[in-house]
This record gives sequence, structure tokens and C-alpha cells, in this order.
Amino acid sequence: MTALKSLKNHLHVLAQPGITRKERKSKLEPITEASGPVLDETCKQVCATCRKSLREGKRPRISLAIMVVGLVQCLRS
Ligand SMILES: [Zn+2]
Repeated sequence: MTALKSLKNHLHVLAQPGITRKERKSKLEPITEASGPVLDETCKQVCATCRKSLREGKRPRISLAIMVVGLVQCLRS
């Protein structure tokens, strides 16, 4: 495992305009998009397979699946 912060210059491949929303505290607040790479904020490390993909400028194959699991866990709480 590698520290995620050591790959910060490779995370641009995880940016995906148009799919994120910032949390709103009220429905009166405007809907805004989160900028930058789409990351699970609890993720601090990267496995060797994902590190290789990121260093090659590719999105890791299972990155979307991990995001969906994270979202489901978030929605349950
Ligand atoms: Zn991985």
C-alpha cells in the first residue's frame, strides 16, 4: 500500500465534471459541484494495482465501485 498523498500529482484522472454535488444544509442553497478528483475522504492509501493505473494516467478499474460502496454507506448513516 502507498500513501494516497504521495500520488497527489496523479489524481487528476479521478476528476469527473458533472457527477458530483456539494452537500447542502437547506434546499434553498444553490446546487454546486465539488471540484477536483472524486475521492473517498476516508481513503488514505492506494494498493499497488491502483497505484500503477494512476501513474500511467488511467482511472483504476474498480474506483467507481469503491465510490458507490462509500456512497451507500454514507446514505445508510
Ligand atoms: Zn486498488
